[in-house]
Amino acid sequence: MKIRPTKALTFDDVLLVPRRSSIKSRNDVSTVSRLTASIQLNIPVISANMDTVTEASMAIAMAQSGGIGILHRFMTIDQQVRQVQKVKRARGFIVEKPYSVGAQASVAEAAEALRRHGVGGLVVTDENGHFAGIVSSRDLLLAPPEMQFVHQVMTGREKIISARPGVTLDDARALLYAHRLEKLPVLDEQGNLHGLITAQDIIRPETSAALDEKGHLRVGAAIGVTRGEMERTEALLVAGADVLVLDIAHGHADHCVEMVRAIRQHFPSAQIIAGNVATREGARELSEAGADAIKVGIGPGSICTTRMVTGFGVPQLTAILDSLEGVRDSGRDLPLIADGGIQKGGDLVKALAAGAETVMIGSLFAGTEESPGSAVIRDGQKFKVVRGMASLAATMGRRAAERNEESAESPEDWDKVVPEGVEAVVPYRGHVAEVLHQLVGGLRSGLSYGGAHNIRQLQEEAEFVEITPAGIRESGSHDVRRL
Ligand code: IMP
Repeated sequence: MKIRPTKALTFDDVLLVPRRSSIKSRNDVSTVSRLTASIQLNIPVISANMDTVTEASMAIAMAQSGGIGILHRFMTIDQQVRQVQKVKRARGFIVEKPYSVGAQASVAEAAEALRRHGVGGLVVTDENGHFAGIVSSRDLLLAPPEMQFVHQVMTGREKIISARPGVTLDDARALLYAHRLEKLPVLDEQGNLHGLITAQDIIRPETSAALDEKGHLRVGAAIGVTRGEMERTEALLVAGADVLVLDIAHGHADHCVEMVRAIRQHFPSAQIIAGNVATREGARELSEAGADAIKVGIGPGSICTTRMVTGFGVPQLTAILDSLEGVRDSGRDLPLIADGGIQKGGDLVKALAAGAETVMIGSLFAGTEESPGSAVIRDGQKFKVVRGMASLAATMGRRAAERNEESAESPEDWDKVVPEGVEAVVPYRGHVAEVLHQLVGGLRSGLSYGGAHNIRQLQEEAEFVEITPAGIRESGSHDVRRL
């Protein structure tokens, strides 16, 4: 037995000391950060893989705001794959089923189709439905009167510049620019049409969304650590999940380390987030096993009772600092994710300043419109439900789902569950974009107080002071009556 000589700290135990700043506006700072060694986010925020927090609509909203959502895993493989596909289809720069017209159609019919669909061009198909060319509104308007059919005025396939399936956004933009094109069909080697890229779709105002190489929204998905989960892993990767999150409460464990190694071996290019850990050794081992990011947090979650039930855990600020040392010990440059206990902008800024590159958030987002589940009214106020994934109800529901049963209600089993989480309600908070706006606004101001143009600089320059209960009291609004 040993007792560490130094105290362990969490967010409320400390404040950041302001520094000289050359930042004139909150817009002069960058909130770009690394999710994994090779994926960047525009805001450093992730929605948690909990069944009251992240399904497709949350993931879509998170990625549209520049962060990412991790789909929970308490559903069948098919259901989880469909959720990934839903996020991926929500936005892209390739129109997969463009409007078309037959080559034998009249110019008047084509003009009418353009008007009806509100587009500037149509794909032309031959009598077998194969790609034959493209006709634009300009072709139709400038056609001399004797040209009456689409095949006479279209740009035929022999003259068409096209892209191959899998083309990246940057390559498509370069091709459109080099040839001054409006439309770029995506054709395979046999000439089959896979979609249409338009200059209009590419030059949409610069977006802050988190996008993959094809311009689709990014999304992550949680997986378990049993061997059977390799099937889920493969299906999720095929569906286009950008990152996988190993979902295990105590990540510094043989089966977690082995799972990281196994995925690394079978799917070398998969991006793996491993955790949760709260120690230097835990972070080092997962890093050495081949993880692409390490998730930190044993017990800080708002709905978590692990520390009460088991006596284990490390206050989150110290856990982040220790884990950072562990990653450094492994000789790799991997990002840390601070998971749990983030309720306000200040917590986010402190987690990042301590060394995390992103944070994962559960209950704060459970109250938003995009979280799964319906709202409840209590005493005239609107709430939404949040539950720990190790709470009694979630555990019973999961066991029932695993046994493929209709109902979780099996009272004789209740006493066999030892919950490490609770079920609760949180105030309804409107759209997640509004909550993110507040959090990221706090981060932008925080960077300015820290004299930092970006998160990396904040980490390099940060100086924390430990505060007393009087300091904590002084930090909130005090000695006034809140409206
Ligand atoms: P929050 O943002 O403070 O609500 O914390 C969310 C995090 O709590 C999740 O990302 C999980 O790591 C963790 N968590 C979720 N469910 C449970 C549970 O039942 N017990 C312990 N931790 C949990």
